[in-house]
Amino acid sequence: MKIHEFQAKEILQKFGVPVPSGKVATSPSDARSAAEELGGKVVVKAQIHAGGRGKGGGVKLAGDAGEAEQHASDILGMQLVTHQTGPEGQKVKQVLIEEATDIDRELYLGIVLDRATSKLVVMASQAGGMDIEQVAAETPEKILKETIDPAVGLQPFQARRLAFGMGLEGDAFKEGGRLIMALAKAFEATDSSLFEINPLVVTGDNHLIALDAKINFDDNALYLHKDLQELRDLDEEAALEVEASKYELNYIKLDGEVGCMVNGAGLAMATMDIIQYAGSSPANFLDVGGGTNVERVRNAFRILISDEDVKAVFINIFGGIVRCDRVAQGVVEALGDLEVNVPIIIRLQGTNAPEGATILKESGLEFTVAMELKEAAGAVVEAVKAA
Ligand code: ADP
Ligand code: MG
Repeated sequence: MKIHEFQAKEILQKFGVPVPSGKVATSPSDARSAAEELGGKVVVKAQIHAGGRGKGGGVKLAGDAGEAEQHASDILGMQLVTHQTGPEGQKVKQVLIEEATDIDRELYLGIVLDRATSKLVVMASQAGGMDIEQVAAETPEKILKETIDPAVGLQPFQARRLAFGMGLEGDAFKEGGRLIMALAKAFEATDSSLFEINPLVVTGDNHLIALDAKINFDDNALYLHKDLQELRDLDEEAALEVEASKYELNYIKLDGEVGCMVNGAGLAMATMDIIQYAGSSPANFLDVGGGTNVERVRNAFRILISDEDVKAVFINIFGGIVRCDRVAQGVVEALGDLEVNVPIIIRLQGTNAPEGATILKESGLEFTVAMELKEAAGAVVEAVKAA
């Protein structure tokens, strides 16, 4: 789960990480009064769940409260496009009004899971403020790493080593060690999956402050954190993905033309591969999970076809725990309730596959039933071409 910058900063501040004073505003006049409170010289920052806002015109410096009001009125309501939003962008509904910081240097600090070692790693770099992906690709030697041993946690000497590596001196060096330790503590306490402070700033008077903050929580641990769940902003998430999560369905929007209903992530991958191989591409995939029932299949189907990009639906289910007759029943019931104008190709294999096939046949509805995966994919691509 992603959260906004201002929410991430509130969390970090509680753990002792210094952040600029700021206030959220949802109207230009609120922005003006926030700016007045903060002393006039402020930065107006679009709050969306994507980075790269600065380059996209979503972060603007204001010399006084009047200018802050003007920037807020330009930014609020805009469709902000960054390299992380996709071409349609994301609508800005709130801005963070933050005191302008006197920046000497911009650094990078992050914590992520290193899947190769199955451990958390703290990353630091003097090349802050820009895309860390680009730094990693072009000048990997500029990224310093310290692995966190899960048995003992991040050690102060590791934090100091990173602070030293970032070229910090004097006060900033001392603060750096403390800040990195605080960050590791916050990460663990919130069961996060990603922390990114980009930039971490050395101010003109040699102090450290987190100027940007990005936090992703680990969805699998969210049930432990009622308070963090409340930070969720559904407006920032794809509408159909939100709808799917209500029924515990795993739905991912993609940019092709075939709607895919599958059970299990492995089968989802294989299904997407075979569709690509046959010459088309998936518009989404919807994983109904292992132990599904008629109700879930019905909801899944409804969500799948409400995606306007879908030109054909491919239902590819392997009945291991789930029985094919139940899936067939769900599909037939869903089609009874819904108006479906796209061709449907179904492949049901495994437990009770013949019973499933009979239900489909006796329903009198129109499907293409395929037994083999390759045959099914061929039928899907033909259906898309005909559409
Ligand atoms: P994003 O990463 O989405 O572009 P940031 O919060 O990193 O957004 O802001 C982009 C840039 O704007 C920063 O690298 C920094 O140079 C500047 N900036 C952001 N917040 C402030 C602030 N409070 N004071 C001064 N400059 C800021
Ligand atoms: Mg940033």
